[in-house]
Amino acid sequence: MVYQAARYTAAEHPASSLAFTFIQAALSMRYSALSILKQGLGGHRGWTRAWRDPTPKPAYDVIIIGGGGHGLATAYYLAKVHGITDVAVIEKGWIGGGNVGRNTTIIRSNYMFPSNTYFYEHSMKLWEGLEQDFNFNAMVSQRGVINLYHSDAQRDAFARRGNAMRLAGVDAELIDADEVRRRVPLLDFDNARFPIEGGLLQPRGGTVRHDAVAWGYARGADSRGVDIIQNCEVTGIEMKNGRAVAVQTTRGRISANKIGSAVAGHTSKIAQMVGLELPLESHVLQAFVSEGIKPHLDTVVTFGAGHFYISQSDKGGLVYGGDLDGYNSYAQRGNLPMMEHVMAGGMAIMPSIGRVRLLRHWGGVMDMTMDGSPFICRTPVDGFYLNGGWCYGGFKATPASGWCFAHTIANEEPHEYNRDFTIERFAEGRMIDEKGVGPNPWIQ
Ligand SMILES: Cc1cc2nc3c(=O)[nH]c(=O)nc-3n(C[C@H](O)[C@H](O)[C@H](O)COP(=O)(O)OP(=O)(O)OC[C@H]3O[C@@H](n4cnc5c(N)ncnc54)[C@H](O)[C@@H]3O)c2cc1C
Repeated sequence: MVYQAARYTAAEHPASSLAFTFIQAALSMRYSALSILKQGLGGHRGWTRAWRDPTPKPAYDVIIIGGGGHGLATAYYLAKVHGITDVAVIEKGWIGGGNVGRNTTIIRSNYMFPSNTYFYEHSMKLWEGLEQDFNFNAMVSQRGVINLYHSDAQRDAFARRGNAMRLAGVDAELIDADEVRRRVPLLDFDNARFPIEGGLLQPRGGTVRHDAVAWGYARGADSRGVDIIQNCEVTGIEMKNGRAVAVQTTRGRISANKIGSAVAGHTSKIAQMVGLELPLESHVLQAFVSEGIKPHLDTVVTFGAGHFYISQSDKGGLVYGGDLDGYNSYAQRGNLPMMEHVMAGGMAIMPSIGRVRLLRHWGGVMDMTMDGSPFICRTPVDGFYLNGGWCYGGFKATPASGWCFAHTIANEEPHEYNRDFTIERFAEGRMIDEKGVGPNPWIQ
């Protein structure tokens, strides 16, 4: 009761936000084995809300549009690392309802280009301490990620990538077919159309419970004074003398000194509101979960001759995905031809999954850049900061993305890990086209 009263008072009197933050920190409930025991003895009636449901204030120091993983992580690090707590995260739906709660949960840092390698490795290091840091069980599981190779040429390409990773201090092992068979016996080694020759293993890669990441960051940010405002859509951005000064929302106008966009699949729509046209396309990506079966896959496997990746969740469901739908869309649902295509990829390496029933399936909207790499940057519009272009791979980036975006907003300059993730790289010919593809996001 005292806890709620303290929060209410601070929301009414923003000037007291420092004291408010202190009181919040002192009173907020730490999750631990001891608190479970204590609450268990009390019939679990003492748990407090994980975050508040505040009424938006008329003004904030910083507004982050989008309560996905990246927006919430940004707010968390703004508060925790930079001491900026007068922050609102504005989410049109509910937090965790976007891609952060829709992805196939894979984390890894097996990149080759320096711009990517050090950024994603920073993310991996943050994942490794995240649960202790934000005091939330996100089920970080470093069960390894194996990229299969199916030809000598692909082996050589993977060897090159693995060597680049090791030179950068990232773990990588090139394993042969026998070692792959030992780790994943259910793969088809006898009659596959694309015989498995081996794999590039990143032992520290793995999976994380996706929506728990949103909840953990939300709780951590809220406990430091950040307002998380759900069911509030940004419908316009107000400009004054070329500067973004306020957002129009379904819950009224809110002004801010700085406005950051972290809306993933809707990035181009928000950018349009400040007159920015980005080299981005939005596409649907689908995910699939089977019925729960006994544990038989304790790592993540990706197919090298098609687009298919699979792991098994702790509840037993096989979690898998594949290619994007080939057309532009903002709808969070996919189509049957792509479903069939993904299943065919799965059957090509692991035919036994043909006996398992598909239980759930959904789509998320992907913000695909033309070089496959993201934006974390200031923009030509004063007061407007951009985080987007995450393509297939933004979940694993969540901690580093929040870290670097918070740094960029707080200091008006990039962190060393995001200095290449600019919009200008396309005009300057400095694309980070790790996958070597042209302007065709659907074939990445
Ligand atoms: C099926 C699928 C599988 C994937 N698998 C992986 C994987 O295994 N590994 C990996 O690294 N990545 C994966 N990804 C990619 C990853 O999920 C995304 O790149 C990442 O989650 C995007 O960042 P986010 O979490 O901030 O996005 P989101 O969670 O989508 O957050 C953006 C938020 O902005 C909100 N928003 C949009 N417009 C507005 C507005 N006008 N006003 C207010 N709020 C707004 C949305 O409601 C949404 O909640 C996958 C994605 C999908 C869909």
